[in-house]
Amino acid sequence: MTQTYTPDRPLRVAVIGSGPSGIFATEALLKQTDLPAQVDVYDRLPTPYGLVRYGVAPDHLTIKSVTRGFEKTLGDPRVRFLGNVEFGTDLTHEDALAHYDAVLYTVGASSDRRLGIPGEDLTGSMSATEFVAWYNGHPDAAAREMVLSASGVAVVGVGNVALDVSRILVKTAQELHESDIAAHALTALDASHVQDVWVLGRRGPAQAAFTTKELREFGELHAAEPVVKPEEIALSEAEEAAITDNTKKKNVEVLRDFAAREPEGKARRVHLRFLVSPVEILDDGQGRVGGLKVERNRLDENGNAVGTGEFEVLPVQMVLRSVGYRGVALPGVPFDEKRGVIANDEGRVTGRVGEYTAGWIKRGPSGVVGTNRKDATDTVAHLLTDAKEGRLPGAAHPTREAVDALLAGKGVQVYSFHDWLVLDAHELAEGQAQGRPRAKVVHRELMLGHRKA
Ligand code: NAP
Repeated sequence: MTQTYTPDRPLRVAVIGSGPSGIFATEALLKQTDLPAQVDVYDRLPTPYGLVRYGVAPDHLTIKSVTRGFEKTLGDPRVRFLGNVEFGTDLTHEDALAHYDAVLYTVGASSDRRLGIPGEDLTGSMSATEFVAWYNGHPDAAAREMVLSASGVAVVGVGNVALDVSRILVKTAQELHESDIAAHALTALDASHVQDVWVLGRRGPAQAAFTTKELREFGELHAAEPVVKPEEIALSEAEEAAITDNTKKKNVEVLRDFAAREPEGKARRVHLRFLVSPVEILDDGQGRVGGLKVERNRLDENGNAVGTGEFEVLPVQMVLRSVGYRGVALPGVPFDEKRGVIANDEGRVTGRVGEYTAGWIKRGPSGVVGTNRKDATDTVAHLLTDAKEGRLPGAAHPTREAVDALLAGKGVQVYSFHDWLVLDAHELAEGQAQGRPRAKVVHRELMLGHRKA
């Protein structure tokens, strides 16, 4: 029998993951007026907003203002936020299909890509993802002890994440105080010995993935200055003419400006290097990073990096690989291992009815926060078409009460949107008392202690 959706029996959707794509998808479900819809947004963490809270750089506060709109969406009476619920255990795939007409996976990309070179597992070598999670106070990373005794750090990759971690490494405590960086990270970074950070692009300046605004910030830091080798950013007339992308053109201009600057003698330096690939992370003899061997590259006719056989060793004691995030499979959901995404056709999960995906776990880790709005809206359009055309199987237990009973029966401590508002107000007040934008609570148990009375 084809299900009809009414205010008493609305279309019930579970959104798994409360990052930007999950919230944008929810927003799209609320905006449409064809079908009455009810949405439960899940997150394994007590806190909503995913990478906006735990990925966006702590000193990029304006990007985080997107949460004002997110609050409206989660505060809508047709929506519930169910935080601290893990998909796969607290809510299994079968549970989700039994309680919702459609399930939309928006879990992002929580892992990272590896370099595949010797020495990658030495102490002091880690992913930028781990470092970002640590300084942003992600509860799974907060307990990690981050040793910042290195005077030299290599950051592999030239995307915006590489620039974020490099900037945070060289900012002063005073600069970081104005951010919402986690207190443990502020203390550790204040005591850090970092003097030189090498940001390594395997191709040329015209192929770098970062954006110009983020690049320019290196020219405006209190105690650090950019260093660029003119010969590494030199372009032939043909190469220059081939740059059609405006951002890349502007990047090259900013890099030229950096290269032409007289050294200011600041205490810290950020070396923006191009046409170099890491080939081995060297052991200091005690299982820690003792240097990074890199090979000089040239570009072939297709714009790919090719090694020249010329090597150099950078004097670093820490290596952060920042060569892209990678999605992780969800239990019971088809996964495309090669691409690190849920197998899908324009957001419809391959071989499944009533299951959808959006955001980084649908298309891979690219684009800025706002890119996910269209991506999520596109997926929701397919979901709504399927609902209208009677293609959804229909839930066996389509009520909020049934979900509550299921989770209570498993002893899950659900953290609601109103609980989060209590924690949010606490963090803002604590931050204000310290003259900071926010003081994050980083331990899960402490978060769960802040609840609506
Ligand atoms: P990304 O933009 O995809 O950059 C990855 C970088 O890693 C590229 O420079 C890539 O070079 C390099 N790379 C890949 N494999 C490599 C290898 N084996 N050896 C050396 N280099 C390698 O990824 P991301 O920095 O993680 O950022 C993810 C997304 O989030 C991006 O869309 C980014 O713009 C966005 N983001 C935005 C902001 C912001 O707006 N402020 C902040 C953070 C992140 P090739 O090009 O040669 O492959």
